[in-house]
Amino acid sequence: MSTIGTVYLVGAGPGDPGLLTVRGKAILERADAVVYDRLANPAFLDLARPDAERVFVGKGPGRHVATQEEINACIVELALAGKSVCRLKGGDPFVFGRGGEEALECLAHGIAFEVVPGVTSAIAAAAYAGIPVTHRAVATSFAVITGHEDPDKPETQVDWTRLSAAADTLVFLMGIGNLETITAQLIGHGRAPDTPVAVVRRGTWPEQQTVVGTLADICAKVAESGLKPPAATIVGEVVRLREQLSWFETRPLHGRTVVVTRSRTQASELGEALAELGAEVVEFPVIAIRARDVAVRVRELVEARMPVDWLVFTSTNAVELFFAAVGEAGADARVLGGCRLGAVGSATAAALAERGLRADFVPSSFSAADFVREFPDSQAGKVLLPCASAAAETIPQALGEHGVAVEVLPLYDTVLDQGDVAAVRERFAAGEIDAVTFTSSSTVENFHELLPDISLEGVCLAAIGPRTAETMARLGLPATVTAEESTIAGLAKAVCAALGG
Ligand code: SAH
Repeated sequence: MSTIGTVYLVGAGPGDPGLLTVRGKAILERADAVVYDRLANPAFLDLARPDAERVFVGKGPGRHVATQEEINACIVELALAGKSVCRLKGGDPFVFGRGGEEALECLAHGIAFEVVPGVTSAIAAAAYAGIPVTHRAVATSFAVITGHEDPDKPETQVDWTRLSAAADTLVFLMGIGNLETITAQLIGHGRAPDTPVAVVRRGTWPEQQTVVGTLADICAKVAESGLKPPAATIVGEVVRLREQLSWFETRPLHGRTVVVTRSRTQASELGEALAELGAEVVEFPVIAIRARDVAVRVRELVEARMPVDWLVFTSTNAVELFFAAVGEAGADARVLGGCRLGAVGSATAAALAERGLRADFVPSSFSAADFVREFPDSQAGKVLLPCASAAAETIPQALGEHGVAVEVLPLYDTVLDQGDVAAVRERFAAGEIDAVTFTSSSTVENFHELLPDISLEGVCLAAIGPRTAETMARLGLPATVTAEESTIAGLAKAVCAALGG
């Protein structure tokens, strides 16, 4: 017997992924099916289980808009089939989200439902524009109003007299198409023509855009700016506070789009850093890691209790893959008890630290020359170097010249990732990209190979360090800026400086 699933009406918030609630995230992560529409941030779908059914019920190219009846039927069908359903809706599900209708439909079919309120765009778009919907001595009330009354309803449905005086601050959703009527009616019903108005498009998204005017001139200003839906319109004296409180659109990289080239498996710390500064980040994985089969050699080393003086790791991938192989050989970090550890790069040292291992030696740079000069144990008998196959030459050579025996253990190849090249090419073609970041020579090489023919005129090309910059120069992609400190934070700082932030 199949039990009936529960339907969760979950508010996805206005766009910024950080504005999904903790409860909403938990439900999304465990649901059997996710039913979503256009305004819900598509990135949220990545949170759902890989095997969860995903049903899109919004508008899209080449398909009609699902009617509310079709959406209701879809939710009911999934729940009756025993699935737990996450019905993800933009903003709050009960603020012009038709969540009430969907809950009633569940009730009618004996389906249990729960509601997870979301951050409504009515308040969040205003907040991200620097406008508090209430403010001491300025506004003691606010009302959220639909600006898009059903066109089939007779004109009399909207009681403008009551509406105009409903609250100090009026927030209209879905109102852009009706802005002429709204402003004219508010003025006609007693609101001063010089009442400030803000129209916030794509509030809380990196491309948020705000137009400010008065009831008298906002229509002309919106038309002039070419602003399109979705937008929230805020009417009232609180709009004046934006002059001082605007914070989101004033971040150094707001309105800028930055391509972050990286490997698919690498956590995008850089993407996060740039997003914090206000940029729209386009992740462009150009490198894939293909692990080599090192099981036999690692098992031998484990059985011999790791007969080397030093283990030197040159990347976080090397740390991960090496310890995975040690695990497969039935051992753990204790087998390294007799070895000293080296880590090239602070991130590599951090990957060791995560495993409870402190690096004995971290050279001051990524260069082989510095490595050899600073290496504290020139008398070392044997050094084991688990690394990428491409990185397998410089350090062993340099150490070898000093009479140290080095065994290279190439754990993986870095190969070209074809992933999202078409989408990224389109963004370049549309002139939407302001900067590209490169964090290694291989990201430069692969970027060049994937997109050899695009125009990069006016695009800031940022290198993490001198070696990456050299590769860029060699391939005809000269660095506009090179990070002073070869770290993620250093690179983010360089992009900021170059884009005038
Ligand atoms: N349930 C949603 C509203 C759905 S109606 C909520 O609580 O936010 C859709 C309207 O919401 C749009 O026409 C627009 O007016 C507004 N809206 C949704 N997301 C928005 C955003 N990120 N910025 C500004 N307005 C937004």
